[in-house]
Amino acid sequence: MRFALLGDNRIEAQPKLNGLCCCCSKPVIAKCGTRKIWHWAHKSKTDCDNWWEPETEWHRTWKNNYPADWQEIALFDKRTSEKHIADVLTANSLVLEFQHSNIHPQERTSRERFL
Ligand SMILES: [Zn+2]
Repeated sequence: MRFALLGDNRIEAQPKLNGLCCCCSKPVIAKCGTRKIWHWAHKSKTDCDNWWEPETEWHRTWKNNYPADWQEIALFDKRTSEKHIADVLTANSLVLEFQHSNIHPQERTSRERFL
């Protein structure tokens, strides 16, 4: 994830920071190494967004075509209690998901039908 909550603010990963996941509110730690893009990761295995995949530069670049406050928006379906993080949620409530790797058509349909 690019953003985590620190107090009321969404912040980007910086060395030695801790925050809370914007989707499940569980603790996340900043991963700021040299091999992967700086990001936040859950402190322990969690049942957060089961659609979430490790983020790449490709993915981050696509999201960065949109304002930061449109990126990584947690969406909650009250009927099913499912939570997922939209790559981008526009001001007109359009959800954009950027997918580089293959996913099964059934999973794609499931994602398209969420909310
Ligand atoms: Zn989470």
